[in-house]
Amino acid sequence: MRPKLHQGPWYYRLHWQIAIALGAGLVLGFGVGEPAVPWVGWMGTAFIRLLRMVIVPLILTSITSGIASVGSGRNLGRLGAKTLAYYITTSLMAILVGLVLVNVIQPGSHSDLTAAESIEVEQLDTPGSLTDIFMRLIPLNPVKAAADGDMLGLIFFAILMGIALTRLPPRSSDMLRGMFDSGFALMMVIAGGVIRLAPLGVLGLITAAVADKGLETFKPLAWYMVTVASGLAIHLFVTLPLLLFLVGRINPRVHFRNMTDALLTAFSTSSSAATLPVTLHDVENKVGVSNRVTSFVLPMGATINMDGTALYECVAVIFMAQVMGFGLDVQAQFIVVVTALLASIGAAAIPSAGLVVIFIITEAINMRGPEVAILVGTLLAIDRPLDMFRTMVNVFSDSCGAAIIARSEGETEVDRA
Ligand code: ASP
Repeated sequence: MRPKLHQGPWYYRLHWQIAIALGAGLVLGFGVGEPAVPWVGWMGTAFIRLLRMVIVPLILTSITSGIASVGSGRNLGRLGAKTLAYYITTSLMAILVGLVLVNVIQPGSHSDLTAAESIEVEQLDTPGSLTDIFMRLIPLNPVKAAADGDMLGLIFFAILMGIALTRLPPRSSDMLRGMFDSGFALMMVIAGGVIRLAPLGVLGLITAAVADKGLETFKPLAWYMVTVASGLAIHLFVTLPLLLFLVGRINPRVHFRNMTDALLTAFSTSSSAATLPVTLHDVENKVGVSNRVTSFVLPMGATINMDGTALYECVAVIFMAQVMGFGLDVQAQFIVVVTALLASIGAAAIPSAGLVVIFIITEAINMRGPEVAILVGTLLAIDRPLDMFRTMVNVFSDSCGAAIIARSEGETEVDRA
């Protein structure tokens, strides 16, 4: 039975409470600034820790029980193919929107970066190629992968366990399945409790994020920020809703309403991984997608399907090229598109990860030199608001994927108005 939602006075509803907390965080952050951080900042840190606490057991139980219920063979292949097709198509659509906007607006030509702040960055240990990303899928030790929060390795191992479960004789398989199913239900109860604390967490996170930087910091990069934000807005409010409507036959407004808690959490935490418990909760309980589909699409999506990040990578690299006067012909722009997709897959679902993997792209187009690291540092200094927005887009794309795929699998209850 679907829980009864949207009942009682408006202030009982979680998304309103989160929205009010967000507003209060903005007022405190801008109004009081740094002195306000010790009052409420700890609530944000505690909230993120609580969310991260449930991620590993949640991923493990959700994927294993979900895959075991899909079964191996043809069903699994079909679901896998649909999921990958969705991830790649939407990420490419996002990148193309970014590509067009950055070429039309030309933010690099309007920016004077002499007054901009910069943070020192090194070329961090980023995955360099498709083979690297592929190899990272296979954990040497699944227990270590879980302890280190290595999501790709954990997902891979959970998928294998789910498939293997369907091959066991009924006596042992029933027992283990029961264990994973109940483990998953247990984690969702804990996640549900953590989600109730979201308003307090959001208040802390937003206050700290806003107090950290004054508006002045963002001025030199205003055009760049406008370009990224416009691209993300087009993807969030036009492309994905159109896909929901045309492919899934789903009313986008209903889907937005059902996903409000997760979207606001993504915005406040800047981490798709930390938001995953909320995303799973909303997509199962409010959107009404079965665990069979969510367990497949959402944990993997949080880790590899990052439309907002992909769009961002493309805009950021071309912006840097414009500032440096580094000409990019059609072929180079094509390489940017393909490697932006790859970089978004390789980016971890944590704050600012998208910016760090940018070196995959700059290397691919031979854009090198000390200016590159300085420019990345400059973008990092103003990354937080853009990260909040792109994480929201990343999470929304995952939820749209789950809804569309569930519809295509004959689930008629999805996003029922
Ligand atoms: N913060 C983003 C996420 O967790 C990744 C990024 O930095 O683009 O989805």
